[in-house]
Amino acid sequence: MFRPIRDTLKSNPELYKKMQESFQTQVRQCLSHRKVKEFVAKAHISENQLLHSLADVRHWLLESEHCEQCPGLERCPNMYKGHLPSPAYVDGKLYFDYTPCHHYLKFVQEEKQRRLLRSHLVSNQALKVQFEDLEIDEGNKQAIKAAMLFCNRFDQLGGKGLYYYGEFGVGKTYIMGAIATELTHKGKTVYFVHVPTFFREMKQSLADHTFTEKIRELEEVDCLILDDIGAEGISPWLRDEVLGPLVQIRAQLEKPILYTSNLDYDQLYIHLAESNRGELDEMKSLRIMERIRSYTEAYFLYGKNRRRTKGEA
Ligand code: ADP
Ligand code: MG
Repeated sequence: MFRPIRDTLKSNPELYKKMQESFQTQVRQCLSHRKVKEFVAKAHISENQLLHSLADVRHWLLESEHCEQCPGLERCPNMYKGHLPSPAYVDGKLYFDYTPCHHYLKFVQEEKQRRLLRSHLVSNQALKVQFEDLEIDEGNKQAIKAAMLFCNRFDQLGGKGLYYYGEFGVGKTYIMGAIATELTHKGKTVYFVHVPTFFREMKQSLADHTFTEKIRELEEVDCLILDDIGAEGISPWLRDEVLGPLVQIRAQLEKPILYTSNLDYDQLYIHLAESNRGELDEMKSLRIMERIRSYTEAYFLYGKNRRRTKGEA
């Protein structure tokens, strides 16, 4: 049988006194805490008004201490992970709002981006870049300006995209990364595809269901980025059954495609026409190229190879 604590204390005045003292010390410590003093002053209340909610006040102080020695979101010991209580005194009662901390807000933002941004073998660096990270020079300033305009006017563009071409390393993919980041911040879905790898995998998976699923995603996503088009080994099948329909369907849906390439429009036309093992298939290439041309604005990027200056391969 349990004995009520009251009875234990009655029969043991020594213990009762000790507990009383310990309680008083805790009250003093609690009420003299800097945060409590600041709150009391701000809320125009007296310290005594907090006595009824002492357990809550202690909990608040404990969680604030956790935050001061933040072990990171993963190991956050607070009652609501990534949140800290902030007190308010309303109608004679103490309340706590749980406010998300900056780690939690960052996590939510990144999660959101992960949900909105899909990619196929594009480097993480390119997927994280933001417009303010971009260095601007003569060779990329028009392209960057167009990129910002594209993001700002995304909903009014009727599916018109961009076509960036130029030498390796001038920053085509990198600017596309900034576009992807900006659009996901606006809640748009983006699919960033490295074309050569993607097409190679397509050829391997041929017409299985993952293939159909992937293609549907590429057709339906708000913004599709086809990175490094023209660097792939394209077969008639890829051109006529994958690229052609994709470009056509997205144009009909008024959803943009952004391209990066080492080739300009005319060179890409030749590349697409050449696909049939030596024979030129100009009609089919022409049809695709007409759509690409009329649905994009082309920008030539030039300048130093930034990969070399950054010691990349
Ligand atoms: P491309 O796609 O034209 O071959 P990238 O976009 O891959 O070139 O650029 C290569 C590297 O150069 C990037 O990974 C990045 O580190 C750097 N870089 C490119 N453009 C910029 C820029 N505007 N500002 C800062 N760094 C850049
Ligand atoms: Mg690139």
